[in-house]
Amino acid sequence: MALADFPRYPLMFGPSPVHPLERLTQHLGGAQVWAKREDCNAGLAYGGNKTRKLEYFVPEAIESGADTLVSIGGYQSNHTRQVAAVAARIGMKAVLVQEQWVDWPDSVNDRVGNILLSRIMGAEVRLDESGFDIGFRDSWRQAIADVEERGGTPYAIPAGASDHRLGGLGFASWAHEVAQQEEELGVFFDTIVVCTVTGSTHAGMIAGFADLERAGGQPRRVIGIDASATVEQTRDQVARIARSTAELIGLDRELDDDEITVLEGWAGDRYGIPVDSTLEAIRLTGQLEGVIIDPVYEGKSMAGLIDLVTSGEIGKDSTVLYAHLGGQPALNAYSALFTGTRTAGRLIGVES
Ligand code: PLP
Repeated sequence: MALADFPRYPLMFGPSPVHPLERLTQHLGGAQVWAKREDCNAGLAYGGNKTRKLEYFVPEAIESGADTLVSIGGYQSNHTRQVAAVAARIGMKAVLVQEQWVDWPDSVNDRVGNILLSRIMGAEVRLDESGFDIGFRDSWRQAIADVEERGGTPYAIPAGASDHRLGGLGFASWAHEVAQQEEELGVFFDTIVVCTVTGSTHAGMIAGFADLERAGGQPRRVIGIDASATVEQTRDQVARIARSTAELIGLDRELDDDEITVLEGWAGDRYGIPVDSTLEAIRLTGQLEGVIIDPVYEGKSMAGLIDLVTSGEIGKDSTVLYAHLGGQPALNAYSALFTGTRTAGRLIGVES
């Protein structure tokens, strides 16, 4: 089956915007940097990368006769917020397990930002004290069983809509969307920089660009920046999903190991806890471009991009596409980092 043969339920406005980051490019003094904006890809609760992935899940959910989407993430999960929005949009219920993935000293961490939006959209939010893990969890299995027990029909979506047969399709088609936009704009992005945690965003891109290459497209680098701080697990998951997605969309060759690049060095020690380079990246992007990025994901991948461009690792003659995957609502749980009180920052040793 080719990618175009998979049913897709439209949830986005259309192709997400692509634009140059001119002042950031000038400031870094190296490669040309552009952004593709999944943070404004939809009118569903601020959209984001999961909205794109879920376009490929919804037809199967509807087809299965489900009435409830069941998923899992941290208290400030962007993913579960998007599941709640999609459930509302398609007239289903949502049950969300929200684990304590981040030990973050903010008294409203379980009340503002993403979790607040999910509650507004009518999701059943179940707080759970378990820590960070991108694997399958008992709490999620329990939530699925509970929906069945009360007579509902669940459709199960794993963390980040990743470790699922259809998880890589959304970003495989993102690659095709990029190729189309390149043609319209008269530009070629030789390097893509993307944040990776549960893996299917990055993995889908790898499969999608390999698919384009097969059709005669030029090769390019897709650089994943780890924000999980459990890089081996994320790297394995990216490789596994990239390969299964490639097979699913009919790529007639095995992906090589060197096509799967997950770089570490910007995640800090723990998922969800920003480090100095994260905060610098957030401030720099905000102050030079008016573009807002978050302290859990995009602040870390942007920190990676900044270092790779300034060190020349990404060469001056490169044109780089930064995948902005969304995530800004979580900033509400990190206000202390930017108020000047420094309390939360000091607690974890981050200068703010
Ligand atoms: N950026 C944002 C804003 C996210 O919400 C996520 C979700 O985990 C990611 C990046 C990482 O994407 P993935 O989990 O597909 O690796």
